[in-house]
Amino acid sequence: MKRPSHKTPAFVLHFLNYGESDRIVTFFTREFGKLKGIAKGARRSRKRFCNAIEPFSHSTVLFSRRDENSLAIIEGCDVINHYPQIRADLGRTMTASYLIELADRFTAEGKRSSATFHLLDNFLGLLERGNGLEETTRFFELRLLKLSGYDPVLERCILCNTPFDKIDTALFDAARGGIRCSQCDMGNQNGIPISAGTIKTLLMGKNIETDRMPRLILSDNALRESRQIFRHFIHYILGKEPKSLRVLDEISGMG
Ligand SMILES: [Zn+2]
Repeated sequence: MKRPSHKTPAFVLHFLNYGESDRIVTFFTREFGKLKGIAKGARRSRKRFCNAIEPFSHSTVLFSRRDENSLAIIEGCDVINHYPQIRADLGRTMTASYLIELADRFTAEGKRSSATFHLLDNFLGLLERGNGLEETTRFFELRLLKLSGYDPVLERCILCNTPFDKIDTALFDAARGGIRCSQCDMGNQNGIPISAGTIKTLLMGKNIETDRMPRLILSDNALRESRQIFRHFIHYILGKEPKSLRVLDEISGMG
């Protein structure tokens, strides 16, 4: 039986070396969602694979497979963007790895998600063009959460609907997926304080066009609060901390 061939833009999520010269690669494709395949001779054939099979590389992938459940045969890759500026900088490289890991964890196998694909494309582009690492990370997290059905409720108290700018001390409640006001606190100490200023900036960043993103700068306070909240919320949803976050922490500690 002949295997149908397909061509699609894709990002490398991760890979492992297999045998003497092959690689098993997991791509995040625009048309087919996550795709796992074997790239035979990937470590030898520079002609067919060039430097396409490296973490977060963006390329057009040519593959064939018997059906949706079988391992794809990766026939070749054409690099669209290898992100030289990101790769030249450790902080940028680790941030890109974190975005890739999140995209991986928040998408299901074989399920097409072109919105998440475009998000990744836009935000790796921002990183490549030198956008702030923390801003890029926070707004990526926020938008990915929204696309994945976990849009955090920041506009108003999730219990009594008081608007955020009328709340004295808002607390972010990961279990409820939004902020609570002090009236609805009910002695529950689990929330993380978040100021109205931080909420305002996050709400702007949720909907602003990507081209205008570089104008959006988070204050030190907004950086600290949003970092803590997203970290906690993502950990809560995934049930564990993303692996690349630890490396990112170590790098920030060095800086
Ligand atoms: Zn309330």
